[in-house]
Amino acid sequence: MKQPEYRCYFSDYTGLRIFKLDYTPIMVNRIHNFNAGPAALPLEVLESAKENLLNYEGTGLSVMEMSHRSAEYSAIHDQALADVKEVLGVPDNYAILFLQGGASTQFAMVPMNLASADKTVDIIQTGSWTKKATKEIKKLAKANIAATTEKQNFLALPKGSDLKLTEYAAYVHMASNNTIFGTQAKSFYKTKAPLVCDMSSDIASRKINVNDFGLIFAGAQKNLGPSGVTLVIIKKDLADRAPESLPSMFQYRTHIDGNSLYNTPPTFGIYLLGLTMKHIKKQGGLNAIAKINQDKADLLYKTIDESNFYKCPVAPEDRSVMNVVFRIHPNGTDANEDLEKKFVAEAKEAGLIGLKGHRSVGGLRASIYNAVTMSGIYALIEFMHSFQKNN
Ligand code: PMP
Repeated sequence: MKQPEYRCYFSDYTGLRIFKLDYTPIMVNRIHNFNAGPAALPLEVLESAKENLLNYEGTGLSVMEMSHRSAEYSAIHDQALADVKEVLGVPDNYAILFLQGGASTQFAMVPMNLASADKTVDIIQTGSWTKKATKEIKKLAKANIAATTEKQNFLALPKGSDLKLTEYAAYVHMASNNTIFGTQAKSFYKTKAPLVCDMSSDIASRKINVNDFGLIFAGAQKNLGPSGVTLVIIKKDLADRAPESLPSMFQYRTHIDGNSLYNTPPTFGIYLLGLTMKHIKKQGGLNAIAKINQDKADLLYKTIDESNFYKCPVAPEDRSVMNVVFRIHPNGTDANEDLEKKFVAEAKEAGLIGLKGHRSVGGLRASIYNAVTMSGIYALIEFMHSFQKNN
């Protein structure tokens, strides 16, 4: 029997419609994805990967099937590195690495390379992810909590003047965006010791000055691409600190020398990360992206603040542009967990997913990374208004 042919059309920026050739819709619109990570990817990126899935630009094979030593894959790999350098503005004295093991591996790999049992690492404690990093740092070095907002349930960030830094710290660890609690640093601390920043949940959402950091790391699965790739940007001279006795795979030096090809890299993830970088360039780079992100977040926070139903518990000056955390307090009462459960369930029915807060804190959270479009924000706000009216 002859197979039906399918064609794809973009209805708007978010909406993908697939029709049989006779134009019978078989799938209408993708849902609005507010997942915290893995998260929404730009439709154009997915579409481009799909076009090339079976036959990458006439090579007759998928990127997934290529040797990582082939000329075809080398071109993809080097272009992705060049595009990260351009988009993030990485200076020449920094190396860009595509590693594996997620951001969680970096919690240990950084102290393995940059510290030692007799050295102190200063930690700016702002939530669950810096706490997880602390656990690993303590196994390899001395840990000093230079500041913490735990008493405020991590709903605000420490000020620069709150930091109690160690005189000869090996480095200072921080997270730029706290995915679970919904806080985000608006500027960065000036520290004598190299600043190591976990940017997993806001990398490539705004322009940063890479020179402010000794090392930046990020799991790819929010703004960069699919899970499986970890981006590391490291000031090259810091890599020389690692002892030779450290196993090769755990030394940054190995991956700098090998151009992230010491062993088999996550090739397909790197390919998608490269497509995402191209997509950012096409939209006008990080300044343009940051403006859209700010507009999206402003609209959502305004909706929350103007209602007597939704409430954002995060200090206004520290609110994240990426993860908007909120609760339902009908008429100023305590947060109502039953209504929050109902909100999540009804939102899902309305085509809006991923709005449940992290299992450790409850409540609601809309993760609005780069790939969540303004039409997604409008859809969420419309749903929030109607849910409030009906409840
Ligand atoms: N740091 C932050 C800020 C995160 O949001 C996450 C994951 N959500 C992690 C670290 C852990 O990342 P991974 O799962 O890639 O290890």
